[in-house]
Amino acid sequence: MDVNDLPEGITHLGDDVFAIDTMLAGYPGVVSAYLIRSERPCVVEVGTAGSAPVLHRAISHLGLAAEDLATIVVTHIHLDHAGGTGDMAAVFPDAEIVVHERGARHLADPSRLMSSAAMVWGDRLETLFGHMRPTEATRIRAVGETGEIDLGGGRRLVSHYAPGHAKHHMGLVDTANGDLYVGDALGVYNPLTGDVRPATPPPDFDLDACLRTLRLFGDIEPRRLMFSHFGAAESVPETIERAEAELRVWVETVRESHGTVGDLDHAIAMVRDKVMTRYAPMPAGGAEVLDTLAGAETNVSGIVHWLDRLEAERAEKKDMRPGE
Ligand SMILES: [Zn+2]
Repeated sequence: MDVNDLPEGITHLGDDVFAIDTMLAGYPGVVSAYLIRSERPCVVEVGTAGSAPVLHRAISHLGLAAEDLATIVVTHIHLDHAGGTGDMAAVFPDAEIVVHERGARHLADPSRLMSSAAMVWGDRLETLFGHMRPTEATRIRAVGETGEIDLGGGRRLVSHYAPGHAKHHMGLVDTANGDLYVGDALGVYNPLTGDVRPATPPPDFDLDACLRTLRLFGDIEPRRLMFSHFGAAESVPETIERAEAELRVWVETVRESHGTVGDLDHAIAMVRDKVMTRYAPMPAGGAEVLDTLAGAETNVSGIVHWLDRLEAERAEKKDMRPGE
């Protein structure tokens, strides 16, 4: 196989790392998986259930037989990242499935995950994500604060718990070259312009946790940031700074309108007017889907949910204070 002559959708990024466009619901440029074709090959992110045949074909094209894949790891269990885990586990029978401990049971039994996704996506669930199949529990390895994946030949992928976008989210560092797989922790990256747009969905979004995760990622001093949406970014400190600045703009804008009448709609309108104009359009093709996954409505709902949670916590503390 000639790495300079790859089919569309597969990109060689050096060091035996390949980006694979998983073509979410047929759209290019939305969800990238990565194959590290080391001695013990590993796939990072699988995309949706509907994407599993695309990813399987790409991995086979890159020379791996069914028994060759050693590990499948997902940064978190949202359907656009992990929906195809059960299907991929079935076609790569020797692969161990690695996930953060707070997401593990949902891979083994996706029923709750699917029903909460149905509440968010309604009719669009089937077309966007397909149906998530369970993964055999005995093949799942759950990791905690940190974890390790053996890539062979002394190369490892080290996981770091990285909440904020979701409470089952982690980042993964390749010890051979310092690549950091960031999942959705920084948001959505536009490879054409370098724009970063936050991804702050309900129910887990937490600004403070997000900012701690960004600090952790900065301290790691990665060589590249490997975005699931979409592609590798080489201007590392600038991109992390941009992610932080954007998060603050979104949260401030929503905070300003929080607590007023018509709350959610008002906040969404404000974000559309004041915030969305900060970004160049995403590359054609998947732009509309990315607007659904990390657009004004989803993000504002997540931020409002978090602000409400903070308020409830504050009220609870006040109630518990004696003599008031
Ligand atoms: Zn995502």
